[in-house]
Amino acid sequence: MNHKMKGILGAVLSFSILLVGCSSPTVNTNSTEDNKLNIVATTTMLADLSTVIGGERVTVDGLMGPGIDPHLYQASAGDVSLMQQADVVVYNGLHLEGKMGEIFENLSGQGAAVICIEEGLDESKLLAWEDDSSVHDPHIWFDVSLWEAAAKTVADGLSQADPDGKSGYEANLDAYLKELEETDTYIRNRAAELPEKQRVLVTAHDAFQYFGKAYGFEVRGLQGISTDAEAGTADVSDLANFIVERQIKAIFVESSVPPKTIEALQAAVKAKGFDVAIGGELYSDSLGDEDSGAGTYLLTVKANIDTIVDALK
Ligand SMILES: [Zn+2]
Repeated sequence: MNHKMKGILGAVLSFSILLVGCSSPTVNTNSTEDNKLNIVATTTMLADLSTVIGGERVTVDGLMGPGIDPHLYQASAGDVSLMQQADVVVYNGLHLEGKMGEIFENLSGQGAAVICIEEGLDESKLLAWEDDSSVHDPHIWFDVSLWEAAAKTVADGLSQADPDGKSGYEANLDAYLKELEETDTYIRNRAAELPEKQRVLVTAHDAFQYFGKAYGFEVRGLQGISTDAEAGTADVSDLANFIVERQIKAIFVESSVPPKTIEALQAAVKAKGFDVAIGGELYSDSLGDEDSGAGTYLLTVKANIDTIVDALK
């Protein structure tokens, strides 16, 4: 909650604090939500993580739905007001939410509880944003070990915002870390089904560098790290040559990027006399919707490795 809101609600708040003896300024005053901690998270991955770690004590609003591209996402006036009224705002950072940087800076200035996943990551584990080593690739969720760090950051942040819930958040974290470990093992086992030379992943944009580093895939994206920059015809032609040379069986569309760029790449490969399949759709910068069977982070990363390995086998 920002200072202005605090000012407006000041009288009401101090009155209710007197009544119920509540000493924590971070408890949500929204009576319709049973005093649950109200979290606003930017991406679908972070909404899922906040729900898992927050459990029964929180309500979570996600700003971006399934299939939404966070690089291009512009916050609406409604989003900004949702964030200003939230108890906690969770965002990725590393310029993933490329059009929202100023909003987060302003939120911090207003004293809102803000959890930035970037701040809990070991910088030595971060990859460069293309050739610029001073900026980092934001797609950290594809290395499950980095998502473990993100889960810890959320648990720490929630414990600070709501100290009474600390033991619950820590228990949820411990249980989730076990599931993340199992998922990491699942991905490794599936990747091992492919001979090393077949572990080449070609996708619409450069979202899978962390995945490639963690699980032993060579990774090529048609567009750069952000979908902000369009692929040129030279990019398409270079990548088509690479696919023909390496006799790559399949390339992949992404759920948060229009399929036309990958279709153009497939056509360019065909023009060179080689057939490459479109191996399916990967969830890149958003989770699947509820009907997709990939509506959570754990289901999404499993669906991705299944799609990749089945198509490249
Ligand atoms: Zn991306």
